[in-house]
Amino acid sequence: MILVLLGPPGVGKGTQGARIAIHYAIPTISTGAIFRDALNRGTELGRSIQRYRIDKGEYVPDEIVLGAVMKRTLEPDCSSGYLLDGFPRTIPQAESLDTMLKARNLTLTAVLEFQARVELIVERFSGRRVCPRDGSTYHIVTQPPLQPGLCDICHSLLERRPDDAPEIVRRRLEVYAEKTAPLAAYYKKSNLHHIIDAEPEPETVFSNVIILLNALRKDKG
Ligand code: AMP
Repeated sequence: MILVLLGPPGVGKGTQGARIAIHYAIPTISTGAIFRDALNRGTELGRSIQRYRIDKGEYVPDEIVLGAVMKRTLEPDCSSGYLLDGFPRTIPQAESLDTMLKARNLTLTAVLEFQARVELIVERFSGRRVCPRDGSTYHIVTQPPLQPGLCDICHSLLERRPDDAPEIVRRRLEVYAEKTAPLAAYYKKSNLHHIIDAEPEPETVFSNVIILLNALRKDKG
């Protein structure tokens, strides 16, 4: 099973992706995580992307991204498939993914596009609180800490991340829509594209995804 996940920041793609990967025992391949790890460890890949400000969202050139994906997807844990998160991000990357899969005699199983109303995402971000010491996250309504305002683990005072402020979230969502709309259109031309309503409770979203993916697997025999 080879899956591509699309969706704006805050839609719950990370949480759902992790659960889908566990359910089907496939690894999640996040290009962002590969790049951060390479930078931290100072590997050859890390040195080659040092000049791009990935902490500021600047895109790494397509050929470097593709090289990293081609290498990672050949590792043994990818033999029964994988879930791609954060890749492809551009049309040339999507085309290269198609070429890579074709050359390996593989096909994409599905492209899942997670969608939720902007207002709901803004609301989710505005309730998010993080612990500055251990990085654990909470939500004042859906996942409150045991003691209001304090981290359950280390009891530090919880904070709101500056980029979670509504006006900044709205801007990030606009940038996302602008950049990925062509990608969604690219996949909509195929029968691989599926919209996932990410507004219900995470449990409901997850079971809807599993119902869909099991049906797709059955269709493919
Ligand atoms: P992410 O963790 O997916 O938000 O990725 C973090 C950063 O890594 C992005 O803001 C980009 O700078 C870079 N990056 C990750 N994936 C890609 C990609 N597919 N194409 C170009 N740059 C990427």
